[in-house]
Amino acid sequence: MTSKSDAGRPYLVGLVGTGVGPSLTPALHMAEARAQGLDYVYRTIDLNTFGVAPHRIGDVLSWAQTLGYDALNITHPCKQLVIEHLDDVDETARTLGAVNTVVFDGGRTVGYNTDTTGFAHGFAEGLPAAPMAAAVLIGAGGAGSAVGDALLRMGVAHLTVVDLDVDRAATLAWQLADRHASARVDASSLDKLSVLLPDSDGVVHATPTGMAEHPGLPFDAALLHPGLWVADIVYRPIDTALLQAARAAGCRTLDGGHMAVYQAVDAFALITGRTPDAERMSAHFRDLVARTAT
Ligand code: NAD
Repeated sequence: MTSKSDAGRPYLVGLVGTGVGPSLTPALHMAEARAQGLDYVYRTIDLNTFGVAPHRIGDVLSWAQTLGYDALNITHPCKQLVIEHLDDVDETARTLGAVNTVVFDGGRTVGYNTDTTGFAHGFAEGLPAAPMAAAVLIGAGGAGSAVGDALLRMGVAHLTVVDLDVDRAATLAWQLADRHASARVDASSLDKLSVLLPDSDGVVHATPTGMAEHPGLPFDAALLHPGLWVADIVYRPIDTALLQAARAAGCRTLDGGHMAVYQAVDAFALITGRTPDAERMSAHFRDLVARTAT
């Protein structure tokens, strides 16, 4: 962590990626900074708007450093591409192979991944003491990859990765198994959920299903049972059809707001060296989601 907590110093932070315009992260950081009395500007840097190809992320880092940025959040499609351009990458992000936060620290660029730490922190807060012997991860994309790593760091002994694209599930399962040798990681297909879920402690949903543009449930609600915790990482809406069905079936649940807020909480701490008020950021986030609901 950097030690940039000197009061009165202005902060300049950016979010780099494509389609970043609607992100709630800038507002989230700036409101917390205001509450802490910090002078903090956070802007989106949409590569499409600037006509910069994602593989030029190294140039973007140099420009940002020259222009006086303190840090960048990095999102799709640059989380992997950025790594080779960094001076240092912390152990968790290196293991995962993806960086979503770059801090410019005394002329050096240091990469972190607060998607994976954010999921873990949000999970610990929202589902304390959840059993971890066996869990299913549905969705092997970018977010699923960060969540899978977090689940294994948190102690899941047997993780099964499921995706519409079975090759994607197999690749992620192989990568996770390679990085977490003490755990058992398998891949499976959606039709096997009827066998997997009755014997699982929990399921994390990490596909777009349940978002306003992709309404519905990712699997048959009849597979839900009171012995299963259910975490959804979709946060628009916060209360997805899956979470509603899970509560009705007696499951403990965790909404996607926890991961979204804690990725920002962890990034804010790395950038400023200050401890953010997670409860305040969560309340602000939930208010923003409600106000921007489609
Ligand atoms: P992605 O496109 O990289 O991956 C999505 C994966 O889901 C793909 O592998 C796809 O094959 C699979 N998939 C799609 N529909 C499916 C279905 N019906 N059944 C099984 N698998 C299916 O996307 P991503 O970046 O991993 O994001 C996934 C979702 O996670 C987003 O839509 C967003 O809602 C959510 N998200 C939440 C947070 C958070 O902080 N809470 C962060 C990032 C993403």
